[in-house]
Amino acid sequence: MTPTAYAVINLDAVEHNLMKVHHFAPHAKIMAVIKANAYGHGMLRIAQALKPVDGFAVARVHEGIRLRQAGIQQRIAVLEGFTCEEELDSLIRFNLDAVVHSLGQVDIFEKKQAHEQIAIWIKVDSGMNRLGFKPNEIKVVYQRLLQCPVIKQPFNFMTHLANADDLSDGMTMAQIRLFNDAVADFPGPRSVANSAGIIGWKASLADWVRPGVMLYGVSPFADNTGEELGLKPIMELHSRLIAVKPILKGDTVGYGGTWLCERATMMGVVAIGYGDGYPRYAKSGTPVLVNGQRVPLIGRVSMDMITVDLASQPDAKPGDPVTLWGRGLAVEEIALCADTIPYTLLCGITQRVEIIEGWVSVPPTPV
Ligand SMILES: *Cc1c(COP(=O)(O)O)cnc(C)c1O
Repeated sequence: MTPTAYAVINLDAVEHNLMKVHHFAPHAKIMAVIKANAYGHGMLRIAQALKPVDGFAVARVHEGIRLRQAGIQQRIAVLEGFTCEEELDSLIRFNLDAVVHSLGQVDIFEKKQAHEQIAIWIKVDSGMNRLGFKPNEIKVVYQRLLQCPVIKQPFNFMTHLANADDLSDGMTMAQIRLFNDAVADFPGPRSVANSAGIIGWKASLADWVRPGVMLYGVSPFADNTGEELGLKPIMELHSRLIAVKPILKGDTVGYGGTWLCERATMMGVVAIGYGDGYPRYAKSGTPVLVNGQRVPLIGRVSMDMITVDLASQPDAKPGDPVTLWGRGLAVEEIALCADTIPYTLLCGITQRVEIIEGWVSVPPTPV
């Protein structure tokens, strides 16, 4: 018996997507972004599948420690850096690169005795206004950090693009120029591009690129899918029908009775819900594949179940396979139906969903 709700993770597609990064950024080193459990795909699994990359990026110190403890050898940058001396000690002990974005961190560095050294990425805030130093602060910060024996030289420099997913937005070029000017006088590698930069903005391809979502086969842009960009989605989400029954004209379905049956039909109940990470805000009409055919979601998504209109599938029966996203139904399309971005859907897969590694040409039929 296959698990009820399960995600298939196609590791072959990881290599394919990595090749695409090389294709877009042939001269850059690649720092694969595997924060948030590799966008829901399993951090260690994806790190192992990405063996050939030059480095990894995670958000938090504990994510970096887990990678080191699993034997990952490459550079690992911790994007949020550290907030206290204990965290700096962990970064040093596990040989993790620190992103330096605040004067508080510079103070901690200045007090640190050097036994071993740590590599750093000085983060420039070129307009995102989240983490980083303003361009006019860089010179002073640089001079202070030069005096810290615990830090390896040359330093690395990075910034993050706020609007790169909108190819008509002038902010991206402005950010790139601001960053390049801010670091022009200093030696050391630079990194600017996320997935949208890699695909859409040649001027953002510096010494290192930081692909995230494109490695998972998903488009960073709202108006196309990963497949349209030549990427291969890694994750498919499946479940099965657990009930099929007639509903009558005038019946409502689900919590709040938000869907009113206008014409007698068959409905199906699928074992997937927001408790699995299927988006609560998916609207009636969101496509779902039953036996490989599109049918519309009806009514509200509940914790464990969704309901679908089986008018086009008179022979559907309990046990039949259901795909929530995967081949033939892009996660990007589901994100649009739920007023969100595919990142949140991938990251949101919960513990209850069983992970199956590999690729099955036809989703296994439960017996
Ligand atoms: C998450 C993140 C990335 C990757 O972004 P994608 O849009 O997934 O490619 C790159 N850089 C930083 C600083 C990030 O936080």
